[in-house]
Amino acid sequence: MKIIDILDTKNMSLSFEVFPPKKESTFESVVAATEEIAACHPAFMSVTYGAGGGTSRYTMEIAKNIKDKYNVPTLAHLTCVSSSRDMVHQKIQEMKEMGIVNVMALRGDLTPELEKTDPSTWDYKHATELVRELKEAGDFCVGAACYPEVHPDSVNQKDDLTHIKEKVEAGADFLTTQMVFDNNLFFNFMYKIREIGVTVPIIPGIMPITNANQVERAIKLSGSFMPQRFKSLVDYFGNDPDAMKQAGIAYATDQIIDLYANGITNVHVYSMNKPDVAKAIMDNLSNILGKDFNR
Ligand code: FAD
Repeated sequence: MKIIDILDTKNMSLSFEVFPPKKESTFESVVAATEEIAACHPAFMSVTYGAGGGTSRYTMEIAKNIKDKYNVPTLAHLTCVSSSRDMVHQKIQEMKEMGIVNVMALRGDLTPELEKTDPSTWDYKHATELVRELKEAGDFCVGAACYPEVHPDSVNQKDDLTHIKEKVEAGADFLTTQMVFDNNLFFNFMYKIREIGVTVPIIPGIMPITNANQVERAIKLSGSFMPQRFKSLVDYFGNDPDAMKQAGIAYATDQIIDLYANGITNVHVYSMNKPDVAKAIMDNLSNILGKDFNR
């Protein structure tokens, strides 16, 4: 099933993101965790891609396993900047053979090694090129990334918004945001992106922070703003793992409810291969999920 068809329904839904193992030795445990999350029957699940392609086989295997075994639609991520055109085309072919119809088209981060090389020698510079190639290669539903707090490589938000619009014009069917901890930043972004004429569905990304150690890494990876309300929670409960987990799940649930109440129907949860967290959030929303409140 194509993700755009899920997003077109008016029912409240959640999707979860998982990531592939970095080593063969942890493959089975990661598969088990992703299956437990799939058993909760989210609207769809996305599987990230290790830039450079090292774990690409696992991304596709996990995406195929979830969709075939649990009938949960999957979204396989694919990055391009540190890959050759041949390699990317081979991955696209493999996706077709595995029946993967939903692909998240990403540039990937620029590694220090890559930054030392001449960009004119790169096969891909931006995700737009990958979006276009996926659309030309087959009947894929293509997602792309967007950044309510502006991508760190951008000179300013106007420029970033222009490039997001280009990805949609190249064929992106929907956009998923970088994690946000303050919904107002997402609502602000929605206003600006709609104003420049981007009409595709935009899925907010929510990261439940369930242990204090995650905070630093999440900020480093995303650059996302942490509101004082959230910082207080980490300061107060961070040393008690059970309390921190409960508080982090409650905070994420509260964000999701606020998004639903303001007209967003699908929220993407960066569930980090944690079935207990995914289940707890679904339980918290058990009387909301699946319903259309505009009937
Ligand atoms: P682009 O759309 O290419 O944008 C990158 C920067 O270039 C932006 O500043 C943009 O404004 C600018 N830009 C775009 N087009 C042009 C142009 N034509 N000229 C000049 N500037 C331009 N990374 C992974 O490695 N694996 C994953 O699975 C993964 N999943 C992700 C999922 C989501 C929802 C998000 C938000 C990010 C994900 N990332 C992942 C991280 C992502 O790869 C990085 O944020 C990366 O730095 C940018 O990727 P992009 O696709 O947004 O790139």
